[in-house]
Amino acid sequence: MTQHFDLLIRNGTIVDGTGAARYEGDVAVCGERVSRIGELSDCTATREIDAKGLIVAPGFIDVHTHDDRMLLAEGDMVPKVSQGVTTVVAGNCGISLAPMPVPVSRPVLPPLDLLDASGEWYCYRSFAEYLAALGETPAAVNAAAYVGHTTLRAIVMDDLDRPASAAEVARMQEMVAEAMEAGAIGVSTGLAYPPARAATTEEVIEVCRPMVPHDGLHATHMRDEGEATMASLDETFAIGRALGVQTLISHHKLAGAAAHGQSVATLRVIADEMIRQKVSLDCYPYTASSTILTLEHAESSGRTLITWSRKRPEFSGRDLMDVMSELGCSMAEAVAQLQPAGAVYFRMHEDDVSRILSFDPTMIGSDGLPHDEFPHPRLWGTFPRVLGHYSRDRGLFTLETAVHKMTGLTAAEIGFVDRGVLRAGAFADITLFDAGLIRDQATFEEPTRRAEGIGAVLVNGVSVWEGDAPTGARPGRVLHRQRSPMQAPGANTGSRAAVSTAG
Ligand SMILES: [Zn+2]
Repeated sequence: MTQHFDLLIRNGTIVDGTGAARYEGDVAVCGERVSRIGELSDCTATREIDAKGLIVAPGFIDVHTHDDRMLLAEGDMVPKVSQGVTTVVAGNCGISLAPMPVPVSRPVLPPLDLLDASGEWYCYRSFAEYLAALGETPAAVNAAAYVGHTTLRAIVMDDLDRPASAAEVARMQEMVAEAMEAGAIGVSTGLAYPPARAATTEEVIEVCRPMVPHDGLHATHMRDEGEATMASLDETFAIGRALGVQTLISHHKLAGAAAHGQSVATLRVIADEMIRQKVSLDCYPYTASSTILTLEHAESSGRTLITWSRKRPEFSGRDLMDVMSELGCSMAEAVAQLQPAGAVYFRMHEDDVSRILSFDPTMIGSDGLPHDEFPHPRLWGTFPRVLGHYSRDRGLFTLETAVHKMTGLTAAEIGFVDRGVLRAGAFADITLFDAGLIRDQATFEEPTRRAEGIGAVLVNGVSVWEGDAPTGARPGRVLHRQRSPMQAPGANTGSRAAVSTAG
């Protein structure tokens, strides 16, 4: 039957995001959705793309980002779209831009300054206001967001070095309830960071409690990612068990030489726990981490690179050792002089990174820091690095598995219905790439070099990236967490828990 479509992507090799083997076919798009997939040579379209020699895949979902502000301030989202990313999940590690019902304290408390050191962007009094701004000023990509526990602590507590009082917990609960009603997908925590370290397990459980009726997700940058990772896993599981909610272990890693090799044990424990409760995890494909500069991290790092410094911006991109010799001082003094600042730490072992990436349930998330002057290359390179370096060049897993880890798996885990897969009826979030060419080019020396091998990128049926440049279109939507009966094993239609209103 001859049919006419808005768009036909012809002659591509389809990797559909489910993990299934690739096949040859044409993809037809009408409006925001995929209409048909198959042999469509007798059909016509207003616009055609010849995808011969290219992979046609669902657009990639960056499950771990700090893009809260970039979505509004730099809506073309070039670091992400240039990698084939069509959806980002913001508000991670306890840090969310919203809500901020009181004037933000200045200077902005680390790590909240990772999103905005000036404080100007901490201007959304409620989570609803923030999501409304995203809806009114859409970005090129879709976005979902957590509300951050550390942001809430900074709002309600005068002293962050102690557990929250009952009254403070109650205020945080009100804000979590507001955020969930507005469309947050859950609560994130960053218990490793100084402003949240004094929070007890009980505090986290109570603050998260209002998200339970919304089927919210608890995503956590765990209290420890070094030698005490096992204890942190126990705490993380206990929080999930107490609330009966899904838990997401953010950027799972083993940092510091003493912890190297422990991923054999952590993955066994995680796999065991997955039988008892809903646990998910993500990972970025590098052996270096990046966050605010602290002496503790620098001391356990083989090498430390400065990514930004408010007081000494001239040291961005420099090795901490060089800074010490140039200033003629100790590490402690150099770290103090640069504050507030950010850094890259070379603290992981390649075997752990490869093992965690290869673990079947592991999703890919960049953890990119878009406002750093000299960012970790994960911001610009994560997805092509998994496809090129880890899948094609090192053969860690098939291309189909690599794509699944950044599309279908992620959509199912987070609850993005009709996304992350290429099939008739799904949203037309589509990325074309050359499987032979694709590679990350961002390095620690040149961290903002664009990846190679990405072709066209579509979001909700609209082209956002063509000919190695953004088109300027901003078709992104605010996404909410929904559970379809198909995505929730064991769920029947009567227990369907669609969380939020339209989006
Ligand atoms: Zn984190």
